[in-house]
Amino acid sequence: MYLNPIKPSSNSNKAAVLRQRRVFAGEVMVNWATDKTKRVSILRLVTQSIFLLIIFYVAIVGLWKGLLILLIFGATIFLGRLFCGWICPLGLYMDTVTLIRKALKVPHWSLPSRLNEALHKSRYITAAFIFALAIPISLLSAGSTFEFSNFLWMRPPFSVYAFLLEPLQTPVLPWNPPFGALFEINGSYWTFPYVGEILLYLRDTGIALPLSYVFVGAVLAASFKVRRFWCRFCPTGISFGALNRFRALRWLPFLRLSKNGEKCTKCGICQRVCPLQVTEVYEKKDGAINTTMCAVCLRCVEMCPEQDCLSVCFSSRRIWNSRNWLDQSNR
Ligand code: SF4
Ligand code: SF4
Ligand code: SF4
Repeated sequence: MYLNPIKPSSNSNKAAVLRQRRVFAGEVMVNWATDKTKRVSILRLVTQSIFLLIIFYVAIVGLWKGLLILLIFGATIFLGRLFCGWICPLGLYMDTVTLIRKALKVPHWSLPSRLNEALHKSRYITAAFIFALAIPISLLSAGSTFEFSNFLWMRPPFSVYAFLLEPLQTPVLPWNPPFGALFEINGSYWTFPYVGEILLYLRDTGIALPLSYVFVGAVLAASFKVRRFWCRFCPTGISFGALNRFRALRWLPFLRLSKNGEKCTKCGICQRVCPLQVTEVYEKKDGAINTTMCAVCLRCVEMCPEQDCLSVCFSSRRIWNSRNWLDQSNR
């Protein structure tokens, strides 16, 4: 084997790294342009990463938490759970763990369909409980009133709703959060969704930090085997889903999936690839698919092998259809 005795200069190192990056970026672009089974997934990953940066910036400059909740919930009424599929940072962390699992070629587990269904059904009770929380808090905290300004600033009786924004927690912060972080490296503080809440509510118990580590480890380990594991329990996602369940609001989402039943061959791919194990796309005979568990990630549309069988519609207009990606001439 030939070993170069001359140590490359730092300039040539940099040039090599730049070249490698360009090759990698080129490969990603080619992959994106040619592989129809990955285009939307890559676009979604890029979008999630951009939103993570935006959310990091928003966390730095500060924003009324109440306003953020209103924006996200308002968008959900009109766009369904697009936030869950394309924006949520915790969703991105779980998707990244899934990518690692796929790279290691480890198969995933699906939750038993009965358990998944039970979780779907129990979410309304959880959502009702979450929204009712403000009442006892208002009775317990002297002087707290149901004023809009209290909501905007997340002051009692609304302070408890701040946990609905926990999935937006960025993994790193440039300052020490009020109730601490998991660890600190060179002035950057590392944390995770819900860690702040655990450290806040259990601050006097001595188990807050160990419990935070256990929580983070458990969520990441479970997400390694079960896709979007936390989304099955997440109070934020549950509340989003419950919103669109009200009869008066059910017609409102402009963005929805639709199926052309005549083209469906019942291959079952849409059901297998869905990270949330939504079954309605497969089961629906024809027409608009109304399910509050769908995070509009569009993986089922991307993977459906029948031309124009599944579509994503904005209002009544089809904006993107499934393609017969098995047909090479259609690539
Ligand atoms: S269900 Fe919760 S964790 Fe999952 S994507 Fe939605 S907000 Fe994020
Ligand atoms: S992937 Fe498409 S063709 Fe296959 S079952 Fe689902 S909707 Fe039908
Ligand atoms: S039903 Fe389709 S769009 Fe909805 S979450 Fe499942 S794969 Fe994504």
